[in-house]
Amino acid sequence: MRRTVVVIGGGATGVSALLHIAPLPQVARVDVVDPRPPGLGPAFGDPDPALLCNTSLDVTSLRPDGPSDLLTYLGVRGWPVANGTFVPRFLVGQYCRERYLWARDRAAERGATVAHVRDRAEAVRSTGGGYRVELASGASLVASDVLVCAGLSTPRPPDLVRPHLGHEALSESPYPVARLRGLPADARVLVLGTGLSAIDAALVLCSGGRRVTMASPSGRLPAVRTRLTRPERSRLDLSCLGTPGVAPTDRDPAVLRSLVSALAKVAPGLPLRHQVAAGGDPVARLREETELAERGLTAWQDLVSEVIDQVNEHTVDWPPHERSALLARYREAVFRYVSAIPLANARALVGHCDDGLLSVADGSPTRLDRAGDRWRVRWRSGAEDFDHVVCATGLREPRLRVDPPDTLRLESGGAEPTDEERPLVTERLRVRLAADRPEERIWLLGSTSRPRTAIPNYLREAAAHARAVADQWAATPPPLTQEEPDDRSRQPRLVRTGPLVGVPGGGG
Ligand SMILES: Cc1cc2nc3c(=O)[nH]c(=O)nc-3n(C[C@H](O)[C@H](O)[C@H](O)COP(=O)(O)OP(=O)(O)OC[C@H]3O[C@@H](n4cnc5c(N)ncnc54)[C@H](O)[C@@H]3O)c2cc1C
Repeated sequence: MRRTVVVIGGGATGVSALLHIAPLPQVARVDVVDPRPPGLGPAFGDPDPALLCNTSLDVTSLRPDGPSDLLTYLGVRGWPVANGTFVPRFLVGQYCRERYLWARDRAAERGATVAHVRDRAEAVRSTGGGYRVELASGASLVASDVLVCAGLSTPRPPDLVRPHLGHEALSESPYPVARLRGLPADARVLVLGTGLSAIDAALVLCSGGRRVTMASPSGRLPAVRTRLTRPERSRLDLSCLGTPGVAPTDRDPAVLRSLVSALAKVAPGLPLRHQVAAGGDPVARLREETELAERGLTAWQDLVSEVIDQVNEHTVDWPPHERSALLARYREAVFRYVSAIPLANARALVGHCDDGLLSVADGSPTRLDRAGDRWRVRWRSGAEDFDHVVCATGLREPRLRVDPPDTLRLESGGAEPTDEERPLVTERLRVRLAADRPEERIWLLGSTSRPRTAIPNYLREAAAHARAVADQWAATPPPLTQEEPDDRSRQPRLVRTGPLVGVPGGGG
C-alpha cells in the first residue's frame, strides 16, 4: 500500500511538509488543498516589499537543519544576504513557491503526483481504513494520511469594532497591505494593536505620509534586534521546564537563573539591564532600544532561538492548561523579545515618530462610533476623529472541532469549541477524535499545532514538524488498509485542479 496524502493549506508549512514527504517512495500522491496558490500563504504571500521578516534567514528555512535553505536559494540568485539578514517576506513567498514547483516536478519524475486543489477543506471524515476530506465546493478527496497546515488565516477583530464589521472605512486585518496603500495621503488612521502586524500597518501607512495612532491595552512595542539566528553551540539549559505540575511563579527562580547564566556566556560582563530599556513611554523605549541595537548591545537576541526551541521541546508533553499558564506568565517576554522587530523597522518607526506622523496611545479606545464620514474614537482622556481604522489585533488558526464519532471539522467562524469538542492532540502531533480512540493519521503542523506547541508561529518550528512527520513515515510501513472511495467521492464532483490535473501516476 502506498500513501495518498492530503495537505490542507499550501503556505510555508504545507510546502515544507511537501518537501519532506514527497521524496518518500511510499508516497504516491499528494493533493495540496488551498484556495491560494501554493507557497503564497498570508504569512509570506503579500507582495509588498516593505514587509520584512522578523526572523533572520538562518531560521526562516523550509528545512530545519543544516545550512539555511533560504540563504542558499537567495545566494545563488545573487542577493547580498547573510545568515543574520532579515529579508522582505515576499522573497520567502517566492522561495516557497519555487520549492513547491520543484518538489512537484521531482515527484512526477519518480511517478508520483503532486496536485493543487483550489478549494477549502471543511472536514476530515474517518472512513475506517482512510479519510475523506470534504471540500467547500462539495467535492471530496480520499486520503490515507492528512496533514493540517492551515496557518493563521482568520482575523481576530476586538469587541470594540464588532458592530462595525464590514464598514468600508474599517480593515479587519492589515493584509494585504495594498488596501492601506490605497488610502488618501492625508488620511488619519487608527491602528488597533502594537505588535508585529500593527507595525507592518504603521510602516506602510506612514511611508505614504498618513498620520497614524497605534493603540493597544498595554501600549507596549516589541524590543529591537539585529538578528535571530541559531547558536553555534548551545548555551542555554531550560531543562527546569522538564516537569509539569509546578506553578508558573514557582518556576521563576530556576528560569531566571538559566537565562542569566546563559547570557553570561553569550556576553560576559554585559548585564541584562544594560541591554534593555526600562518601561515607561513606549516611543522613548523604542528609541533607546534602537540605539542599543545600533551599538551592538543586544546580546539577549542570541538566546531567542534556543529559548523557542527549548520551551517547545520541554513543554510538548505538558497538559494544555499548564502550557497556557506558563505562556501567560511570560507573555510580556514572549511579546517583546521572542517577537522583537528588526532594527530597520525600528529606525523607520522612530523616524515616523520624529516626523510627527506616528504616535502610540496610552491604552485602548473605550468607544468607537461613526460621526458623519469619520470615526469618533473615545479615549479615557477625551475624543478624537479618524478617517480609517485598521485592526491589527492578531490572526488565528481555523477552529478544530470533533463532530462525533468520526469527523474533524475546520471552521473559520462560529463559536469556540468547548473542551469536549476539541480534538486531542498527541505528542507526535497526531489527532485523536476521542479518548477511547487510537491516534488518527491526521497530523497538525505549524500554527495548527498550538494545542501541543507553546510557540508555533515560527517557520523553523513548522519545518521541524514537517521533518518529524517524514521521519515517522520513513520509520514505519504505510497504512495497510485503505478503503476504496465510496460512492460520493467516485462522482465527478471529485475536483482536482492545478498544473498536474489528470497526470497519471501514483494512485496508491
Ligand atoms: C503576517 C505574518 C508574518 C509572519 N512573519 C514571520 C516571520 O517573519 N518569520 C517566521 O518564522 N514566521 C512568521 N510568521 C509566522 C508564520 O505563521 C509561520 O512561520 C508559519 O510557518 C507560516 O506558514 P503557514 O503555512 O503555517 O501559514 P500561512 O502563511 O498562514 O498559510 C496557511 C495556508 O493555509 C490555507 N488554509 C487555511 N485554512 C484552510 C482550509 N480550511 N482549507 C484549505 N486551505 C486552508 C490558507 O489559505 C493559507 O494559504 C508570520 C505570520 C504572519 C501571519
